[in-house]
Amino acid sequence: MTTCPSCGKELKKSVAKLYHFRESGLPNVFLQNITLYQCACGDKLVQIPALERLLDAIACNLLKKRTLLTGLEFRFLRKWIGLRANDLAALLGVKSRISISRWENGRAPLTAAMDHAMRLLVMRVKEEAVKQRMFTEIEIQEQFERISAKPGKPERMVITQKTLDNLPFPPQHHQAPYARPSA
Ligand SMILES: [Zn+2]
Repeated sequence: MTTCPSCGKELKKSVAKLYHFRESGLPNVFLQNITLYQCACGDKLVQIPALERLLDAIACNLLKKRTLLTGLEFRFLRKWIGLRANDLAALLGVKSRISISRWENGRAPLTAAMDHAMRLLVMRVKEEAVKQRMFTEIEIQEQFERISAKPGKPERMVITQKTLDNLPFPPQHHQAPYARPSA
């Protein structure tokens, strides 16, 4: 991990104390102590360790969130369970993928009913894979009673090593730890 994939030159290494994890698709997620590599040609690489676990940690935070999901968060969860918009539309009983797109790009507000249906669906889809461990921590009724109906601005979410160590469910598989940072 020392040469540039574009030009082959040596990369300059640095460490970001708090890295804005835009690659997550969410505007409010930050990671601690992330290694960055920069090349004289302008190419940049970021080393994201345990990417799958990070996505798991973000999903876990979203399922426990006390305000309604934003469009981007809804989309994050849809991708986390690997569903296409039209398949999700069928599962949620909405007319077409157009409704899903409208929620995801913020053109229509997500209702509390759809927010809760989505969280339940996500938990059900992941249930097998995580052997139910995650969901013993998320007490559904209590959790849903606490969700405010007001669409809240997402709070800053900082994922630390401790977050990853304390995730209430095991990792599922591995993925390459390198990604290009988004502009
Ligand atoms: Zn280069």
